[in-house]
Amino acid sequence: MSEIGKVFLVGAGPGEPKLSTLRAKELIEQCDVLVYDNLANPELRKWTKADCIEIDVGKSPGRHTVDQRDIEQTLVEHASLGKMVVRLKGGDPFVFGRCAEEMLALDEAGISYEIVPGVTAALACAGYAGLPLSHRECGSTISFLTGHEDLTKETLRVDFSKFAKVGGTLCIYMGMSKLEEIVEKLLEGGIASEIPAAVVSNGTLPSQRKIISSLKNLVSSTKEAGLEAPAIVFIGNAIGRTGEKANWFESRPLFGRSIVLTRSVGQVSTFKEKLEILGAEVMELPLIKILPSEDKRLIAEIFAGIATYEWVVFTSVNGAREFMRLFFLAFGDIRSFGPMRLACVGEGTAKVFRDHFLEVELIPEISTAENLAKDLVASDSLDSANVLVVTGNRNREVLVQMLEDVGHAIVDTLQVYETDFEDVTNAPDFKKYCRHGADAIIFSSSSTALSYVEQEQDIKFDRGARKAIHCSFGPETSKTLRENQLSVDLECEHPSMDNMIQKLLEYFSR
Ligand code: SAH
Repeated sequence: MSEIGKVFLVGAGPGEPKLSTLRAKELIEQCDVLVYDNLANPELRKWTKADCIEIDVGKSPGRHTVDQRDIEQTLVEHASLGKMVVRLKGGDPFVFGRCAEEMLALDEAGISYEIVPGVTAALACAGYAGLPLSHRECGSTISFLTGHEDLTKETLRVDFSKFAKVGGTLCIYMGMSKLEEIVEKLLEGGIASEIPAAVVSNGTLPSQRKIISSLKNLVSSTKEAGLEAPAIVFIGNAIGRTGEKANWFESRPLFGRSIVLTRSVGQVSTFKEKLEILGAEVMELPLIKILPSEDKRLIAEIFAGIATYEWVVFTSVNGAREFMRLFFLAFGDIRSFGPMRLACVGEGTAKVFRDHFLEVELIPEISTAENLAKDLVASDSLDSANVLVVTGNRNREVLVQMLEDVGHAIVDTLQVYETDFEDVTNAPDFKKYCRHGADAIIFSSSSTALSYVEQEQDIKFDRGARKAIHCSFGPETSKTLRENQLSVDLECEHPSMDNMIQKLLEYFSR
């Protein structure tokens, strides 16, 4: 391509992906090259298209910071090749982001650019920590300062003693390594030692922490709490003018809890979202993968005789979903569904049919295949009846046997999917889980539990890693856990996300 590309200097926002702008999201989705550093949340990179080139120009352990000139060169090079380049910068690009230098370099190279503002850390941290920056009575100016303008410079560039007289609220970026000196200078300049001060680290993230104290105690309180960069320091009377509910973000019921999901989040994204809204940090550790297993001839045969079944039995959401996908492939019209009665293990499975306005007549109180079989037998409708059991490749023997031997039904089975173990070491959050552990791990099925048992020796926890409680979606999963000497710390009454969330809330509020 000979056409010259374009560079977008984009504010990534403070951390929480939902605080990035719509413009930032659409540009990340479209760009050919994404240049990012550590402050931009890695979650944002999941928005890129598959062939996007992602270039890390941040600091990482064992590597020096990429030189600013090299970053500028990278932008120029890719744009010169006709690419659409997004340069992601934490917060807002114009707030302590060295954006001016990148603009000049692009100007010199004759490359056009756009600036996309972002939510800067001071505003985001203030909001998420419930610290107002202005107040009608005592805060009519807001200053953004840097404690550390250039990492290579040892001394403070800002004369903080002068800011003692400015009043209003001071928001200090990059102030952690020089905190003692900054406080000293402000006190020297005559600021009241009792003035409210706060430090917010990792603002807007599940790892957000903060302290609020008087300025004179700020250094000791920060040390005591072990707060680290990235953090914003706030000083001013306005931040002290809040009520009880100001701590809205950190007082959410699951705040600070890390919860491991053992299914791929693509399949349980609403679950992840619900947990995050309650404040939890969700880790992805998929332990199983679901593969469609289509025996085309058998499927064709069964669908040809679909009207002959009196009952169709589903033991899992996956089976139900896959069956409906195949059904629509074959018939394309819900009116071909026929008069058969439906029985499902679990409300989630039943929902797949209810979403198509199909009635589910039987859901056992306790969600096991065995209970479903018992209830069907008790319904006195099985004798010589044709029954279709739609399943995966596991846990169906008892069910089929009971329907045949006790209920005297004529049973066909249709396997529509296969469950395979997923290699845990490839999981997106595997390293994080080994390093920190978690507060809870959720086993959504016996197969996730079995996969965990089989791969447990590959999970080597760091010293001090938290030991997660084991949460089970139902009796069968619990049985598998116990049979493998794993505790069951919490079990759902009905296998549904909402019930699991309810149980987690109860457990963690104890
Ligand atoms: N352009 C960025 C600031 C870059 S300077 C912005 O507009 O936010 C880097 C400093 O920003 C950090 O040292 C810290 O002081 C602050 N910062 C960035 N993200 C932060 C976060 N999530 N929580 C607290 N401080 C943060």
